[in-house]
Amino acid sequence: MAAEILDGKAIAGEIRQEVAADVQAFTASGAPAPCLAAVLVGEDPASQVYVRNKSRACEKAGIEGRTHRLPADAGQDALLGLVAELNADPNVNGILVQLPLPSLKDEAGQAMYDEREVLDAVDPLKDVDAFSPVNVGLLMQGRPRFLPCTPHGIVQLLLRTGHLCSGKNVCVVGRSDIVGKPMAMMLAQKNGSCGPEVANATVTLAHSRTADLAAVCRSAEILIAAVGRPKMITADMVRPGAVVIDVGINRVDDRLVGDVDFDAVAEVAAAITPVPGGVGPLTIAMLLHNTVMAAKLQSGR
Ligand code: NDP
Repeated sequence: MAAEILDGKAIAGEIRQEVAADVQAFTASGAPAPCLAAVLVGEDPASQVYVRNKSRACEKAGIEGRTHRLPADAGQDALLGLVAELNADPNVNGILVQLPLPSLKDEAGQAMYDEREVLDAVDPLKDVDAFSPVNVGLLMQGRPRFLPCTPHGIVQLLLRTGHLCSGKNVCVVGRSDIVGKPMAMMLAQKNGSCGPEVANATVTLAHSRTADLAAVCRSAEILIAAVGRPKMITADMVRPGAVVIDVGINRVDDRLVGDVDFDAVAEVAAAITPVPGGVGPLTIAMLLHNTVMAAKLQSGR
């Protein structure tokens, strides 16, 4: 294997220490510990693990992590009611609605949950996932309040490992609202909020309708895969010497694999993130970072 392994877990550890120090300084100034409220609807096992991990990570950083559970069939009104309560609670600084919401239908055959309506209902000042239209709009305009956690984690990984994007061809595969789209936007910014070195990229945003995806990927000096298809990025799609960031988390035969065919691509790339231990831990670290930011914004400190 030729490639440098980009150790997201270690960098996430660094960031979590920085956040913990920040929390200490914040509470030493007389403020209460920041509080993140996670909302979990239903019993989806993966969602339960994610929420438990987030809550443990909060505790380790000195952040209060609360979990609010609703049964799968609670319904949209109950969920909106809970979000409204958390919006109004001055002790809650950040609100996270764990996705996906259950895909149940009511007696009339209508979906019980409207995810967009729920995310839109979260107070933008408590929107630590940065999913609300206000926070997406601010990001688009290059004056973000919160940065979305997964793309922000990737930016931190690139910055802290010295793989800078300015002037480079970057290809992002996947255009979801959570990862691909904000990722492309952040890297293309003129004045990036994490510094010009990780902005100012020439970005191609590829998706399922992209013609000759392999050729588009091969043009990239930095290739970011956020698709959700196990090992779909093969070695022939990667430019020799490229930096490859694998966002994908796919369960195959009880094992987690990324969107990148790791072993083969590691022979071609200059640097690559593993799965697990790459982007995943950074997402949680940036969520903690946003929660402290939210607490500071709300207290005016
Ligand atoms: P979505 O399903 O919302 O989006 C997938 C994107 O991939 C879509 O834009 C889709 O294109 C595109 N796509 C699908 N098939 C192809 C194909 N054959 N060729 C090119 N593009 C394709 O996924 P998410 O962005 O939410 O998640 C992507 C992956 O990242 C998942 O594995 C998820 O588990 C993981 N993830 C990991 C996180 C972490 O912390 N590490 C955080 C969030 C997600 P189109 O728009 O045309 O349909």
